[in-house]
Amino acid sequence: MSTHNQGCCGPDRSQQNSISLVCPLCKTEGVPVDRETVEHLVQEEYRDIVTRSHYAICMSPSCDMVYFGIDGSHFTRDQLKVPVWFKDGAIPKYACYCSRVTEEQVLDAVVKHDAETLRDVIELTGAMKNSDCLRNNPLGVCCHRAIEDAIAKGKRIR
Ligand SMILES: [Zn+2]
Repeated sequence: MSTHNQGCCGPDRSQQNSISLVCPLCKTEGVPVDRETVEHLVQEEYRDIVTRSHYAICMSPSCDMVYFGIDGSHFTRDQLKVPVWFKDGAIPKYACYCSRVTEEQVLDAVVKHDAETLRDVIELTGAMKNSDCLRNNPLGVCCHRAIEDAIAKGKRIR
């Protein structure tokens, strides 16, 4: 039985919602996200603005828009509780939001402590413990891919 590609949150849900939503600011196509993720990550004072709409997240690094709904409701970077790692200038840049492990920590584990695998990184950094990615990760998906990207980046550096 092999579960190592599945991550901590079960099967990939990214294909579940096929409604296409275009960012009102940069006009690129967003990636659908669960409303629960939006509700959990916007600052308390904006939570009431979250509607029953379908939401998507803008993937352009240079765009200030984060979540936008089919009904026109939307949330920019400064209305969120956490920095979105793929947006320009995100500080800190989290690889794992549930355990608040940064990309920097993953790079350190690979470059300075010779971590080779996802398992090594989890042991060294404590990433992916107490996972609740649907609520904590801005994309609402498991962070293992972001960590794997950081591991690959670290291996190129060392
Ligand atoms: Zn945008």
